[in-house]
Amino acid sequence: QATAQEFDILVLGGGSGGYATALRAVQLGLTVGLIEKAKLGGTCLHNGCIPTKALLHSAELADHARDSAKYGVNVTLDSIDITAVNAYKDGIIAGKFKGLQGLIKGKKGITVIEGEGKLQGTDTIVVNGTAYKGKNIVLATGSYSRTLPGLEIGGKVITSDEALTMDFIPKSAIILGGGVIGVEFASVWKSFGVDVTIVEGLPSLVPNEDATIVKAFERAFKKRGIKFSTGVFFQGVEQNDDGVKVTLVDGKTFEADLLLVAVGRGPVTANLGYEEAGITIDRGFVITNERLHTGVGNIFAIGDIVPGVQLAHRGYQQGIFVAEEIAGLKPVIVEDVNIPKVTYSEPEIATVGYSEKAAKEKFGEDQIQTQEYNLAGNGKSSILGTTGLVKLVRQKDGPVVGVHMIGARMGEQIGEAQLIVNWEAYPEDVAQLVHAHPTQNESLGEAHLALAGKPLHG
Ligand code: FAD
Repeated sequence: QATAQEFDILVLGGGSGGYATALRAVQLGLTVGLIEKAKLGGTCLHNGCIPTKALLHSAELADHARDSAKYGVNVTLDSIDITAVNAYKDGIIAGKFKGLQGLIKGKKGITVIEGEGKLQGTDTIVVNGTAYKGKNIVLATGSYSRTLPGLEIGGKVITSDEALTMDFIPKSAIILGGGVIGVEFASVWKSFGVDVTIVEGLPSLVPNEDATIVKAFERAFKKRGIKFSTGVFFQGVEQNDDGVKVTLVDGKTFEADLLLVAVGRGPVTANLGYEEAGITIDRGFVITNERLHTGVGNIFAIGDIVPGVQLAHRGYQQGIFVAEEIAGLKPVIVEDVNIPKVTYSEPEIATVGYSEKAAKEKFGEDQIQTQEYNLAGNGKSSILGTTGLVKLVRQKDGPVVGVHMIGARMGEQIGEAQLIVNWEAYPEDVAQLVHAHPTQNESLGEAHLALAGKPLHG
């Protein structure tokens, strides 16, 4: 029997986490076997971040067209051509995919292994009957669209995967789940003229956000005519020729053309040999220590299969981290709380650090100061026709530990916010920085001026 090909690192899964590991590892002179059963780029590129943002861009243009007369430009929105929308979206994906393939395949130290891999023991992965060995193994198998027990996907009950490839625009839709993915589709569809109702069992939409942001977000969605029911759980759904009928546990019913199930993402870890290798799995997730080591052999796990926020840039950062860890560089891990999070919708939510509530729990009820700044005072926001706010959370007389923003395109402001939080900046220091005028970014500067005791605008 031929000896198995051996790599310094065998990476299982070529999504945001896996391909980042591979790219950083070859930079460090390590050899990598990158195993992918579908397409390099994973969920983010093909079924997640990129296609949804392309749809959101089309949606934003539709909103601008509707609003255009307000700005003295008389454009009439005739229709949304979903075939053309999809072609634009698919073109973006195809371009990025080609670029990524070129990047990976152009690296001498990376061998792409196509096929479904299964861990065997603690140093081997078998792909299509061929065994490959890794001195180190990085598991990065990602996630899938979850459903609820008894709620079957099929027909008019779909997940984000089907929603992204739909070749029609429904007249009406019910979205089960008011988290990031649910509100993103609600936003797109509403702009495309769909009658949207979100059903969320928890007491509010975007329940993980700071309470002030939640309130502003719900107000904005209401104003846009997006309907939602919160605080009552889903009971069941019936499908017929006309559409779906959703029943909640309180007996209330909603009818629409289809039901999008957006109740979170489950880790892809079953039947992959993980447990047999001795790796601890909890509710499907791979448990690691804070340095992403599974505690078994030289096996690490990154991205959506590791408990915590499921975001592409977190997986990507973890990929870089494990490559450096394996190379012995002793890198620093970024804690989940310091990872920037953006909810892409109209309006957009951008946040990093602790919410007011979480900060009070962590540092003590009377150890927290907050500051809000309303975008009504920001010239660029008025020009763009957006409202919203910036909220800062600081430790009493200490650094800023949370920045929360809502308004059109506020995700673009998250860069400065994450530097502030990650570098534990004091508001007094940020207040000394000059923010260009007129930009939406000035709202961050004004909020810090106010928190530093110099509220120039309000
Ligand atoms: P994945 O990207 O899921 O990659 C895992 C890869 O492993 C896949 O390519 C899969 O085919 C492969 N694989 C699995 N099992 C095997 C096997 N046995 N053998 C070989 N290959 C295997 N995140 C953001 O940061 N910003 C966003 O705007 C955003 N929007 C999103 C929108 C939607 C609709 C969805 C669904 C997700 C979104 N996400 C977003 C989340 C983001 O896509 C994930 O956090 C990210 O893709 C996780 O990266 P990963 O490498 O852990 O897994």
